Order: sequence, then structure tokens, then C-alpha cells
Amino acid sequence: MSLLSRLRCITVDVTGTLIAYKGVLGDYYCMAAKSAEMPCPDYKRVHEGFKLAYTEMAKKYPCFGFAAKMPNIVWWKTCVRDSFVRAGYEYDEETFEKIFRRIYAFFGSSAPYSVFPDSQPFLRWAREKGLKWDFGVFSGLEGVEKPNPRIYEIALERAGSIAAEETLHVGDSLRKDYVPARSVGMNALLLDRFKTPDAEEWRKSGAIVLPDLEAVRELLSSEKSASTF
Ligand SMILES: [Mg+2]
Repeated sequence: MSLLSRLRCITVDVTGTLIAYKGVLGDYYCMAAKSAEMPCPDYKRVHEGFKLAYTEMAKKYPCFGFAAKMPNIVWWKTCVRDSFVRAGYEYDEETFEKIFRRIYAFFGSSAPYSVFPDSQPFLRWAREKGLKWDFGVFSGLEGVEKPNPRIYEIALERAGSIAAEETLHVGDSLRKDYVPARSVGMNALLLDRFKTPDAEEWRKSGAIVLPDLEAVRELLSSEKSASTF
């Protein structure tokens, strides 16, 4: 029996699974600084600064400021300013405003993202097979974020009267995708699109790890797949 025959719904992680970031953060920060007639900041320092600033913001104001009722733009403005400061760049208010507007608009557009070539064919195939996936759950709107299993329960509620066992979650993180999805009773598997060394550990923890969505489609359709989960 194929797993497909007992599935009614599929939930898919976005970043790293359906889409990827194009280029490096430094490119965008450099472009924005130049647009305000400022020299290009050091790529490495800006990237390090961003990682620290983002981690701290996520800790202080989880779910992009949901509980603090912080508007999304304010959350990002604080994060971007802190990224520059940590990298050693402090701008006057007017200059920073220009730089930030540019960065915010850019990341709000489709420009810095690319869709993996197998994403659309996979989702189309899933729909043809009668699997539900056409709903979204956003941490900034729900006030809950991965790896909290509650976000998976919300997804199941959103899917309607579909049981956890009839749902498959596909993601690219053991901690944020696989473990919490399994903990609420969903089927789950992981994609290793970039051949990360972590994949070995994922397999050891019992996860099914596949190279891409094309392989997911093959596995789900194969006659023996029901017993692999
Ligand atoms: Mg991801």
C-alpha cells in the first residue's frame, strides 16, 4: 500500500523546502547603503551582526513581535539597525531611514528569493492527488512559532477535519520540522537539498531524509511506502 492512499493533507515548510534565499545578505545591505550614498559595509561583519541581532530579537520579541504587539516593520527596523551597529556602522536617523526602507521593500518583494524548480510541480501533483495544502500558518499572525508543536496543531485545525495521521509534513529541520510534527502525530520527512552534514544525525534519529520533492513524490507513490512511516 502506498502512503499516498492514506494521506489527505500535506504541510510544507517554506524556506529551504519550497524557496531559497538568493545571494548573500551583504549584497542587499551594500546595495541599500550605496543608495543612501554610503560606502558598502563589510559583508562578513554585517552577516555576523545580523545573525546576532536576529537571534536576540527572536528571543526578546518572539513571533516577530506578536505578543508585544510590535508592528512587523518596527521589528525589522530594530533588527536591521542592530545588525549595522553590531557590524560597526551607525548612521544618522535620515540616512538609516533611507537604508532601511530600501532593505525592507526589497525583502518584501520576490527579488531575493528563488523557488526550487520542483516546488510547483510537486504542489500541483499533490493537488491532483486530492491532497489539501492550500492554507498557510504564519508565526507572526498566530503568536506561535516553530519548534512549538502548537503551530502544527494550528495547521491541523486549519486543514479542517483531517487527522494528524492523514497528514504529512515536509521540512528541512529536524528540530523545527520533524520532531514537533511527529510529536502531534503527523507523518514527517526531511529534505536535504544542500547535502548538509547534519543529515547523518537526522537519519540516526529515525527520520526519512530525501534529496528533493521529486523524491518525495516517488516515495509517496511507491507501493511499499505505507510501511516506511
Ligand atoms: Mg525551513
